[in-house]
Amino acid sequence: MSRQIYPQYPPDLSETQLQYLLTTIKDWSIAHGLAVRPPPSLVSHEQDPAGALAITAPVTLFPSLFPRACFEQGRAIQTAYNELYAAIASDEAWLKEIVEELVDVDDFIAELWKVHLAVKQEGYVQPLTLGLFRSDYMVHLDPSDASAAPTVKQVEFNTIASSFGGLSSQVSALHKYLTATEAYPEESSSIIKNSALPLSKSVPSLAAGLADAHTAYGSSRASLPLCVLFLVQSPERNVFDQRHLEYELFSSHDVKAFRLPFGEVQQHTKLDEKRTLIYTPPQTPHKPYEVSVLYFRAGYSPDDYSGKNDWDSRLHLERSAAIKCPSILTHLAGSKKVQQVLATPHSPHLARFLPDEAKASELRKTFAPIYPLDKSEAGLEARRLATNSETAVKYVLKPQREGGGNNVYRKAIPEFLKSQPESHWPAHILMEMIEPPALNNTIFRNGELQKGGVIGELGVYGVCLWKHDVGTTKSEILKNYEAGYLLRTKGDQSEEGGVAAGFGAVDSACLV
Ligand code: ADP
Ligand code: MG
Ligand code: MG
Repeated sequence: MSRQIYPQYPPDLSETQLQYLLTTIKDWSIAHGLAVRPPPSLVSHEQDPAGALAITAPVTLFPSLFPRACFEQGRAIQTAYNELYAAIASDEAWLKEIVEELVDVDDFIAELWKVHLAVKQEGYVQPLTLGLFRSDYMVHLDPSDASAAPTVKQVEFNTIASSFGGLSSQVSALHKYLTATEAYPEESSSIIKNSALPLSKSVPSLAAGLADAHTAYGSSRASLPLCVLFLVQSPERNVFDQRHLEYELFSSHDVKAFRLPFGEVQQHTKLDEKRTLIYTPPQTPHKPYEVSVLYFRAGYSPDDYSGKNDWDSRLHLERSAAIKCPSILTHLAGSKKVQQVLATPHSPHLARFLPDEAKASELRKTFAPIYPLDKSEAGLEARRLATNSETAVKYVLKPQREGGGNNVYRKAIPEFLKSQPESHWPAHILMEMIEPPALNNTIFRNGELQKGGVIGELGVYGVCLWKHDVGTTKSEILKNYEAGYLLRTKGDQSEEGGVAAGFGAVDSACLV
C-alpha cells in the first residue's frame, strides 16, 4: 500500500455471507478465549451474580490493510527500543531531572518517585528488571510529499501493563482461520491470503519473557516453591488476555502463576529478613510460595491507589527481591514526558542512551514532534500553538497517564488549558497528531456491528531483561527480543483507540 487506496476493501458481504462470518467469529472466539467479561451496561451484577458470563472480545470482521514496509519497520526497531528504555531506566540521575519537572504538578509521578527514593535509601536487593514493552505506532503519510512512501510514527511507548498480547495472538489466528476456511468472499482472495497475514506470536513470546526472568531469578532463597505473581485490577474485564499468558507460562515452561488483586497485596504477601517476597495463596494457606517475578497488570493508574495503604503496597513490592515487571524506574521511564524529551525537535538526549548512531537514526525516523508546555523556548512555542484554536487542531495534549481516556484533542485543547492554572500546564505534553490513511472495516463489539472508516494502531511487543545496580549507570542486557504484534482498530470518528476503554477492537494485519 503506497498511497493507493483500496476502496473495494473489505469486500461487500451478502446477508448470508455476513451471517456465516458472524457465526464463525462468535463460536471461534469463545472456543479460543478471544473473549472479555461483559460490560456492566450489557450484563448487570443482578443478571450475573456469579460472574460466570463472558462475551466475544471486540474484533474486526476483516484483517485491516497495513503497509508491509511499515509493519517490518516497526518490528525491526523493537530491540533498539528495548535497549533504549532499559538504558533510560538505568539512568537514575537523568530520570531524576525529568521527574523534578513534574513533582509539583503531578502527584502520581511524585508518589512513584518517593517509592523509588525510599527503596534506594535502604538499598535495592534485586538488580534484574523485566520489561514486557509495547511500542505503538500509526501509519504516517507525509502531507508535503505526495510521492513519499508511508512510514510509522510512534504514538507512545508502554513500559507497564502492556495489554492485549493474549488476545492479539488469538485474533490473528482467527483471521487466518477465516481465510483458510474460505469464510471471506472469493473476490478478496488475492488480498486476504495466508502469506499476507502475519500470525502474532505475542502469547508465546511474552510468556517466554516471564519464563526467562523466572529462570534468571535462580533458585529459592527461602526453600519454597517459586511462582510468578500477576498483580491485577479487580474486577478485570480483560482477564482472558492475561490468562492466555498465564496458561502458556504453565504449559510451555512449567511455571506456576497466581493472580493477586493489587488491593490485597499486604493481606497475602510478606517479606522475610532478606526481603524475599512470600505469597501465601488463600486457597492453600499451608503452602506458601516465593515470588520470582512480579508482573504488574495494575498499579499504573492513580485509580489503582485508593489511599496510603496502596502506596505502602507498592513500596512493599518494590523493596522485595522479586524481579519486577516493571521496576518503578522502568515505570517512570515510560512516562509521556520522557517520550517528549526524546522527541522534541533537535533533542540531543537519544544519543546518550543509544550511542549507536545507525540504531538511533532508525528510531528518530519514528518520532512525531512532541513539545513540553513549560517555559523553555520549545515550551513557549507549544503554548502559542496550543492556545490558538486554529493551530491547536493539529495536536493532542497528554497528561502523564496510561490506560486510555486521558488525552485532550485538537480544538478542545485551548479551552482545556484555560480551565487549568498555568502552573499546571507543564504536567502535559503537546504532540502533533499523526494522520493515518482512513481505511474501511466493520467492528463487531458487544453483539453489534459498526461499519465504516477506521484507523489502525500497530503495537509491537518487546521483551527485555537487564541487570542494573541503582547508583551506577552501567547496565547489562541479558535478553532482548521482539515479541509479536497487536493491531487495534477504532472508528475514524473516535480520537481515542483503547479497546478496553471502549473505543476500539482487536484486529490483525493484512499486509499490502
Ligand atoms: P495511553 O497511554 O492512555 O494509551 P496514548 O498516547 O496511547 O495514551 O493515547 C491514547 C490514544 O490516543 C491512542 O491510542 C491514539 O488512538 C490516540 N493518539 C495519541 N497520540 C496520538 C497522535 N499523536 N496522533 C493520533 N492519535 C493519537
Ligand atoms: Mg500507554
Ligand atoms: Mg496507548
